[in-house]
Amino acid sequence: MEFEPVIGLEVHAQLKTQTKIFCGCATQFGAPPNTHVCPVCLGMPGVLPVLNKKVVSYAMKMALATQCTIAAESRFARKNYFYPDLPKGYQISQYELPIAEHGHIDIEIDGQTKRIGITRIHMEEDAGKLIHDPQQPQSRVDLNRTGVPLIEIVSEPDIRSPQEAGAYLRQLRAIVRYLGICDGNMEEGSFRCDANVSIRPRGSDTFGTRTELKNLNSFKHVENAIAHEIERQKDVLFDGEAVVQETRLWNVAKNRTTGMRGKEEAHDYRYFPDPDLLPLVIDEDWIETTQRELPELPTDKKERFIRDYQLPGYDAGILTGSRALADYFEDCVRNFPQPKTISNWIMGTLLGKLNAEGKTIEQSPIAASELADLLKLMDDGTVSGKIAKTVFEEMASTGKSAQTIIDEKGLTQVSDTSAIEAAVDDVLAKHPEEIKRYQEGNKKLIGFFVGQVMRATQGKANPKIVNEILAAKLS
Ligand code: ADP
Ligand code: MG
Ligand code: ZN
Repeated sequence: MEFEPVIGLEVHAQLKTQTKIFCGCATQFGAPPNTHVCPVCLGMPGVLPVLNKKVVSYAMKMALATQCTIAAESRFARKNYFYPDLPKGYQISQYELPIAEHGHIDIEIDGQTKRIGITRIHMEEDAGKLIHDPQQPQSRVDLNRTGVPLIEIVSEPDIRSPQEAGAYLRQLRAIVRYLGICDGNMEEGSFRCDANVSIRPRGSDTFGTRTELKNLNSFKHVENAIAHEIERQKDVLFDGEAVVQETRLWNVAKNRTTGMRGKEEAHDYRYFPDPDLLPLVIDEDWIETTQRELPELPTDKKERFIRDYQLPGYDAGILTGSRALADYFEDCVRNFPQPKTISNWIMGTLLGKLNAEGKTIEQSPIAASELADLLKLMDDGTVSGKIAKTVFEEMASTGKSAQTIIDEKGLTQVSDTSAIEAAVDDVLAKHPEEIKRYQEGNKKLIGFFVGQVMRATQGKANPKIVNEILAAKLS
């Protein structure tokens, strides 16, 4: 029997507000433990939460960017459970009436567009952090993170493979980054994902029992964990047993998921509306203003790049991967209007270098206008493409401009016909044997001659002119 995986993702995105969701404490990461806390986020009795308006507007941005419907009235609820990182004994979240529902995003998979439904987006507060130091006899708790705002984005079970899960997550991350509401860092935990996985016989229209996978802190872990969980569930069914609904942890070292606890049901949490917080009312005006403030989103930008710059979809997809990269590209184009040449240089040369050094485009050692200057010098024949690569490396390591490097190192391309002709004559005089073979029909030897002339001129001869002169002399 053939099985089909069914996957739904729950994504928690930490919002980049200055202050927490229900108090004025700073959200800043990395401060000494328990220094960004107050009676409200410590859960002292008698204090009252006050909703941070910025959190609402960030959640609205995400809702609009994912085509969700924003509720005119939504509510906060208490989700009750005990854990040492949760001083109040309940988490303030949204339950029955979330801020937004019924959206979707489009992902691209094997060149095809696929729509993944978004069930809901809701706001909630983060819990604190337990610190288990093997050198210490006890665990410790840092409450700086309690009350840091989160949105949870719940997908429909529309995902059908680990690759689709990866594509969905990447697209979602690109959106939160474009919106500037979350820094999208999975390794640092500001963008977290739980994966719900089940399998069913292909063609069936009912769902199988799902397990929920946690501890997935990179794209690779998400994809690997789902792939292994699908295989595990198949084995369970082939053995004639039933999949148990439970929460499982991804064990990176062992490359498998292990059972953690039975999956709790919603009623276990005794949700009820938080009596300390008023219903949240959002009017049409606020929604319209927020809509107008939305930046151009990744999918629209990609389409525009294909249309306006005649770029292949692949290029446009990479270049719009982040807003900063897209801006870099467009800055270059403004200075040197040859989009495909720029795209090739950014994707092939610049990104290669940045990736190797673990840098982002924001940390590029070469500014967009400087790269454009280099490409202009290549385009007008001042340097060859090959020398331009050398100049590029030199620009990256010294921070000097292309023109300065070319002047200092005497790298200007030789386009003077008589100088090139002399070099060609020299090469031909040294290789009578090859000339004979060339004239006997081994036309591929032209490459050998060009290479010799380029070497003799330290790569500075204009290759086009070299080819022309050689062709004339050899015919
Ligand atoms: P819970 O908090 O109980 O996990 P949520 O509604 O927050 O419930 O999330 C449920 C997630 O599980 C959604 O992303 C949904 O698409 C997914 N899901 C529901 N049923 C299945 C299933 N049978 N197989 C895979 N995923 C599922
Ligand atoms: Mg869940
Ligand atoms: Zn506080």
